[in-house]
Formats: sequence, structure tokens, C-alpha cells
Amino acid sequence: MKVAELQELESRWVMQTYPRAPIELVRGEGARVWDSDGKEYLDFLAGISVCSVGHCHPAVVEAVREQVGTLTHTSNLYLTEGGVRLAQRLCESSLGGRAFLCNSGTEANECAIKLVRKHAHGRGIAEPEIVVLEGAFHGRTMASLSATPGLSTNESFAPYLPGFRAVPGDDPDALRDAVGERTAAVMLEPIQGETGVNVIEDEAIAVAREACDAAGALLLFDEIQTGMGRTGSLWAYEQLSVRPDVMTTAKALGGGLPVGACVTTPETADVLERGDHGSTFAGGPLVAAASLAAFGVIDDPELLRRVRDLGGRLSEGLREIDAIAEVRGRGLMVGARLNGIDARDAASRLLAEGLIANPIGDDTLRFLPPLVIGDEDVDEALGILGRTLG
Ligand code: PLP
Repeated sequence: MKVAELQELESRWVMQTYPRAPIELVRGEGARVWDSDGKEYLDFLAGISVCSVGHCHPAVVEAVREQVGTLTHTSNLYLTEGGVRLAQRLCESSLGGRAFLCNSGTEANECAIKLVRKHAHGRGIAEPEIVVLEGAFHGRTMASLSATPGLSTNESFAPYLPGFRAVPGDDPDALRDAVGERTAAVMLEPIQGETGVNVIEDEAIAVAREACDAAGALLLFDEIQTGMGRTGSLWAYEQLSVRPDVMTTAKALGGGLPVGACVTTPETADVLERGDHGSTFAGGPLVAAASLAAFGVIDDPELLRRVRDLGGRLSEGLREIDAIAEVRGRGLMVGARLNGIDARDAASRLLAEGLIANPIGDDTLRFLPPLVIGDEDVDEALGILGRTLG
């Protein structure tokens, strides 16, 4: 089928909620994808940080092939080993409590929001409040959306959930002042991804921890984009001075399949009890097999060291390009602010030159390449960027 025909079908049958580039991707391997005309692209977006092990990683493919012919789904009314092992791996590698498995990032946050609200009710708070940061993105379902200040102004979906208060991410004093008797949690991404790779300063995060401890509130990290090795440690918080009480993750967790998780410390492991939460597909054998295979690839000190090195190489190379005014990020989560060039236009020109990058707003390009790339991939991307942006 020709791309023009596919575009016509898409506009007729698919709700028009996404602007899509005019190419059809048909195959992927490692950091490369191919379109229906056979053109090759270097993928520096990796499905928005989902394909961190690269496209069709052999370990994930093998695990899924094996599992899909053995047992695909049972519901959560019975035991299956994969989901239990995945929860164990998540908890042992992070906060040590328990995990609730789900199917996406926004669902992981819904679980976390319920958990911190229940924890607050347990402390006698009738109308708990969650403090969030401006510039945050926590998802598209109603609670996650209500926790996303930039989107919960859209009156089309009102009324939003009450109980969220937004403060600037770069104002530790405002953050401290916002936490009080009614606070259930402070919820933040250590690096805000969807609004342009904004690193939250260590000081603000330390203030969030202190204020939560003083108020008896929980610190909740959304590591849906920053987690699973993206910043050069398995979890981004490992490079910070504080640990959260609750963490959510998704995206790269499934090695390309849809998986999310909400993870607790031992102290918060029993807050959600039987009947409090559930999900039909969550933690099923197929996605658990994919996720355990992805874990095996990413939870590797050598790979994580490479992510830090490659991130440094990419950021330094970007800084040398005149058309780039500022480079932000950590590891292989990098944003570049362009100098007077429209980001959407730049991304279209890069796509034509065979590089997939993500425009954010008017002036920022975001790079989230697979974590398995090599120096030569970074140099190739920098070459295309230098030539294309002039
Ligand atoms: N939280 C963060 C930090 C994200 O980046 C995203 C997605 O981009 C989400 C939550 C929502 O995840 P999902 O799209 O899987 O629901």
C-alpha cells in the first residue's frame, strides 16, 4: 500500500489525536528502522524511550517467541512466575518494597496517586493534596492529567480531579512552602522529559525530600522516562542525594511491549490492599517475559557506564553545532535548544536526511536513542545534525 493511501485510511478511521510524519515504518533492528520504501533511519527517539534495548533485541524476541507459544494470559486470579519475578527484580533493584504491575506509564501514576492518597487518609487527612511541578508530564488519564499542570488547563476535559497543587520546578522555597498538613506527596520527574528535558536541580529535590519528611508526606518519583538506564544509572534517583518513597516506571521496562509499574519501599508496601486496585492484563506472562529480558540487557554496569560516556559524547558534539544554543539532560536523555530555528521544521529536515529526533515546542529537539548505540552512531547523528541545521 502506498503511503498516500495509508494516510487517507488513517484520516478516515483513526481518531485524529496525533500529528504523524508522512512515512510508514515497517522494520527495526538495533538503532535502525526502515520505511516502506526501504529507506533507512537512525532512530534517536527509540519509540519515545521505549526501545532502549534497541529494536527487536534478540533476547527480547527470543523470550517473547518462547512465551507466546506457551502461555500468553491468565488474568491476575492465578499465579504466574514471570510477573512475580518481574516485581522481585524491580523491587530488589530499587526501593525494596512491593510492586504493582500495569500496562503503561499513566496507569503506574494512577496507582501511585491512589497509594499516596490512601496513605494520607491513614494519617487522618480528609482532603489530601499532591504537590506537583510546573512543566511536569504524568500522563493522559484523568488523575495523571490532573497532575499535569500544563494540560489540565484544557477546559474540554473539565472538571479535573481536585487535590493537586503546582509550584515552579526551579523555586525550592515555593516548593517548601507548598508542603503542609494536607500534603499527601510531592510528585516529580527527576528530569522532565515531555516538556523539553528540564533537569530538576538537586537542591529542589533535596528540599522536596526534607519537606515531605517534616510533613509526614511521601516523595513520589515518576521515573517513567528517566528510569531503566536512560540517564546512565538504572534509576535516575541513584545519581541524586535522595531516594523516593514510591516510584513509577514504564516505557523501556517492557523492551518494546506495554508494561508499567508502581514500586514502593518496605514502609509503603502494604498501603494498597486486596481489592484496592487491579488491571486485567497487568503483569501477564508475555509482557513479563519481554520485560525480564529487557532488564537482563539494561541492568548491566558496563552498559550503564557506556550510556554516561555516550551521553557525554552526544552532548559535547551538540554544543559544537552553531545552530544549537543550549544542551540539557543526563546520560542519553538530551534536549537541544535551537538558535532561531523552528524545531518541527528541523525535525522534518532531519527525517529526510535519515535521522529521527523529536521536536518539543517551538525550539527544542529531544534525543532518546537506544542505549545500545555505539560511538559511530553518535558521530553519524552529529554529522547529520551539523549538515542539516547548518
Ligand atoms: N510520565 C512521564 C514522565 C512520561 O514521560 C510519560 C509518557 O511520555 C508518562 C508519564 C505517561 O506514560 P504513558 O504514555 O505510557 O501512559
